Amino acid sequence: MAESSLTPTQKASIGYTAYMTAAVRAHESQRPDRLFNDPWAASLAGAEGERRFRQLEDAGGSIIVRTRFFDEFLQSTVNQWSIRQLVMPACGLDTRAFRLSWPADTILFELDQPDLLRYKEDILQAQHVQPRCQRRLVAVDLTTASWPTHLLEAGYDPSLPSVWLVEGLLFYLPNKAILQLLGLISRLSSPQSWLAFDAIHGAMTSSPFTQQRMERVTRLGVPWIGTIDDPVALLASFGWQASVTSSARKGYEYNRPVYPFIPRDQLTPETEKLYHWLVTAVRQHQASHQE
Ligand code: SAM
Repeated sequence: MAESSLTPTQKASIGYTAYMTAAVRAHESQRPDRLFNDPWAASLAGAEGERRFRQLEDAGGSIIVRTRFFDEFLQSTVNQWSIRQLVMPACGLDTRAFRLSWPADTILFELDQPDLLRYKEDILQAQHVQPRCQRRLVAVDLTTASWPTHLLEAGYDPSLPSVWLVEGLLFYLPNKAILQLLGLISRLSSPQSWLAFDAIHGAMTSSPFTQQRMERVTRLGVPWIGTIDDPVALLASFGWQASVTSSARKGYEYNRPVYPFIPRDQLTPETEKLYHWLVTAVRQHQASHQE
């Protein structure tokens, strides 16, 4: 399988987006009507995260919405289906291992770039926080085909069902790398496994309504280049049955309207393409797609 291409500089730049997402979670955690509470987000975000937070178009509305949405997805899926393996590729500065409650025998594998994981551990250890599940850190490059070996070495059991969350990553990757990643995840997932991710439609990258955001992320060296126009069809080709909603709809439901702020009564299948897809899927059978 060919390795997918991002330069080392691009990978480092995407790493910095993790600081910004932590800053968004820190700000949301301070609201009296917060949708979640992440007590470690402010320390993890640091000055770099705060600086990037101030450049956002909507104070991170889509990040707040996806955090809450995936919190609900993870908790309900683990409890309803008694799954005890969770994998978070591109975990960044996520603290779900600490801030959500898990059955005691749950193992959560956090995968990210080595420098990012080192930084995260330094900050968390200085605060003496204890995870609420078994937590295993796996330093990887997710644009290569070799990361599954590291996950297996860390104790992941592909014969058991698992829950995967790929949050805030796919739109930074070339489409070829997205397909490679989904193919590898699918191979590692037994039937009745679950997968969740956020992704964008190609329309978001070219619409005048989202131009301001596209210009900002390009200026920061982290252009949004990876698109999935039809997540249900794509996942079906990998053997998953998917459901999709948009951050726009969830944003109104959670009372956190999301950029580009199209009024609720004007949300249609067309206008929703200008928002992130929030995708959840269950693994059914062998894939037809060339994995
Ligand atoms: N999922 C986290 C969240 O929502 O807060 C982090 C999202 S952050 C926007 C993107 C993450 O992808 C960063 O932590 C970055 O280090 C990671 N990442 C980017 N390219 C990667 C690669 N090639 N291999 C592993 N991790 C990568």
